[in-house]
Amino acid sequence: MSKIIGITGGIASGKSTVAEQIRQAGYQVIDADQVVHELQKKGGSLYQALILAFGTEILAADGELDRPKLAQLIFSSKENQEKSAKLQDRIIREELAGRRDALAAKEPIFFMDIPLLLELDYQDWFDEIWLVYVDEDKQLERLMKRNHYSLDEAAKRLAAQMPLQNKKKFAQVIIDNNGSPKETLQQLGLQLKHLADG
Ligand code: ADP
Repeated sequence: MSKIIGITGGIASGKSTVAEQIRQAGYQVIDADQVVHELQKKGGSLYQALILAFGTEILAADGELDRPKLAQLIFSSKENQEKSAKLQDRIIREELAGRRDALAAKEPIFFMDIPLLLELDYQDWFDEIWLVYVDEDKQLERLMKRNHYSLDEAAKRLAAQMPLQNKKKFAQVIIDNNGSPKETLQQLGLQLKHLADG
């Protein structure tokens, strides 16, 4: 049986940075955001399901999904929002489960980076959950810088997620990313060593 570790955090808490470091240490990491992106591309299963549900009006001239249009349609009614959430959740879960099972057949230890792991109840999939944690003021600051958001925009994004402080109790390992990248790498190195030592 493989050991499967779920990585989570919040927006701009440093998940991608940590996931990259884990890859560099030689482990496979399934990136849920990347998978969703692939499924939403022209011809992907989410792309097709969304057209079936909402019609071709959600497409741009080049045939790809028109994200602003789709967002507008989804958020225009509660019914559309629920329909979309349900549809997307089912397809994404199936795809992630398929990729998990494929890796489980060949990797003794691997990771899955799922930003909304706790909000969407993926806990059962994992032997351990590693949380990439930062204090809220630092999270805001990094989010504003990375996405060029105003304080208001950044605060709105944070408010839409479960606060990182509340996620701590679900995690077996907390990687504190308040310090420098080097300090984070040191903590990660220790955790990866524990893992390798069994
Ligand atoms: P997430 O994947 O959780 O959204 P990222 O890994 O993209 O977060 O990190 C958010 C931003 O903060 C990025 O611009 C990244 O370069 C920066 N960052 C991440 N960790 C640190 C750190 N320890 N010190 C300074 N900046 C950091």
